[in-house]
Amino acid sequence: MEKSKSAELMQIEDKYGAHNYHPLPVVLSKGDGVYVWDVEGKRYFDFLSAYSAVNQGHCHPKIIKALTEQARNLTLTSRAFYNDSLGVYEKFITSYFGFDKVLPMNTGAEAVETAIKLCRKWAYEQKGIHENDAKIIVCEGNFHGRTTTIISFSNDPDANKNFGPYTPGFVRIPYNDLAALETALKEDNIAGFLVEPIQGEAGVYVPDEDYLTKAHALCKKNGVLFIADEVQTGIARTGSILAMCGNCNCENKCEKQESYKQPDILILGKALSGGVYPVSAVLANDDVMMVIKPGQHGSTFGGNPLASKVAMAALTVVDDERLMQNARRLGQIFRTEMQRIIDNSDLVLKVRGKGLLNAIIVNDTPDSSTAWDLCMQLKENGLLAKPTHGNIIRFAPPLVMNEEQLMECVAIIEKTINSFVK
Ligand SMILES: *Cc1c(COP(=O)(O)O)cnc(C)c1O
Repeated sequence: MEKSKSAELMQIEDKYGAHNYHPLPVVLSKGDGVYVWDVEGKRYFDFLSAYSAVNQGHCHPKIIKALTEQARNLTLTSRAFYNDSLGVYEKFITSYFGFDKVLPMNTGAEAVETAIKLCRKWAYEQKGIHENDAKIIVCEGNFHGRTTTIISFSNDPDANKNFGPYTPGFVRIPYNDLAALETALKEDNIAGFLVEPIQGEAGVYVPDEDYLTKAHALCKKNGVLFIADEVQTGIARTGSILAMCGNCNCENKCEKQESYKQPDILILGKALSGGVYPVSAVLANDDVMMVIKPGQHGSTFGGNPLASKVAMAALTVVDDERLMQNARRLGQIFRTEMQRIIDNSDLVLKVRGKGLLNAIIVNDTPDSSTAWDLCMQLKENGLLAKPTHGNIIRFAPPLVMNEEQLMECVAIIEKTINSFVK
C-alpha cells in the first residue's frame, strides 16, 4: 500500500528532527482564520492557536500585508544603527499598554530572561541589595520558557531533570497562596515576584478573584517588583487586553480601568505578532527600565523593522476586531456549553478558564492515555486540541471565531465525548 503524504512527512520529521516534542499525528499545510488544513486537504478548527500565538487567526490579511510590505524594504539592521520602524513601534506599544518604555526581544523565554536581568539590576542599583544576593519569588507549576535559568526554577521534572547545575536566586511558593507570598516577602533580599496571571501550561489554573490584586499590593508594600508574564494570557486571550485587568467590563484599554493593577514589569510574546513572526517585549517605567545602559543587554533581531511593523498590525487588529470583547462573550458561552456536556457525562470532571483560554479535566489519572485518545478522536471529527499534563485538555481557539463557528465546535466536542469509549 502506498504511504500517505502525511505519513511520509511525519516519518522524515521523526528521522531528521530532534525528538523534543510529541505532536498529534496531523500534518498541516494551510491556515486561514480559525481553520487549518492538513496535506490531504482535510479542514480542522484550530483549538490550540499555537499556544495562543495566533489569537488574531491564521494568516490575518492585515498582519501578512504589514509583513510582506516591510519585507520588501528592510528586514534587519541590528541595533548598531537606528531604523525608521522601531521608534514608531516603541511609541505605539508603550502608549497601548501605558508604560514609559519597551525593550524588544524575539521569543517569550528571552523576554522572561530580560525581565529577570532587569529585576536583578534594579535590585542592586536602586533597592540597594548587595550584589549577587537578589532573589526572585516564583510559583509552583510555573511555565516561563526553556532557557537554562528559567528551567532552574521550574518544578516540572520533564523541564529540568538532568539539565543542571541550576541558576540560583529563586524562591518557589505555591500558586494562588497569598499567605505563602507574604511569608516569602519577609525573607531578606527579595527583588521581585514573577507570576503568570493564569497558569496556562500547568493546565489553565485560574487563581482566586482577588489574588493578583492582593499579591500586587503585597509587592508594593514590600518594595518588590511585580513581574507579570502575560506571554500566553495577554493580547485579549482572557477577555481583556491583559489578564491583569481582572474582571472589569472594559470597552476601552484596560489601563484606564480602576481595577487594573499595573505590573512593574510586563512580559509579552506569542500573539504580539499574531503568530507570523517571533516578537516579544518587556515593558516597564523609567525607574526600572533605565537601569539598563548601552551595551548591557541586547539581541541581534530584537526590535527589527519587520517585527516592529508586524506587532503594530497585530495589536491594531485586536482593537479593530474587538477581539477582547469577543473572547469574553464567547468564553462565557463556551464554559456554559461545556458544563452542560459535563453534567451529562462521567468522562469529563470540570471546565475552567477565562475568556477563550479554557481547559477540561478528563476523569482519569494524569498518566492515562484518555485525554490523548480523546484529542485523537476530536481530530477525526475535525477539531485540533492537545492534552497538557496528562488528563487536561486546553481549548484555546483563535479569537476571531464567531458564535456560529463556536457552536459547531461545541457540537464536535459533545459528539466526541458522548461517543467515546475508553
Ligand atoms: C510560551 C510561554 C513562554 C515562552 O515563550 P517562547 O516563545 O516559547 O519562548 C513564557 N511564558 C509563558 C507564560 C508562556 O506561555
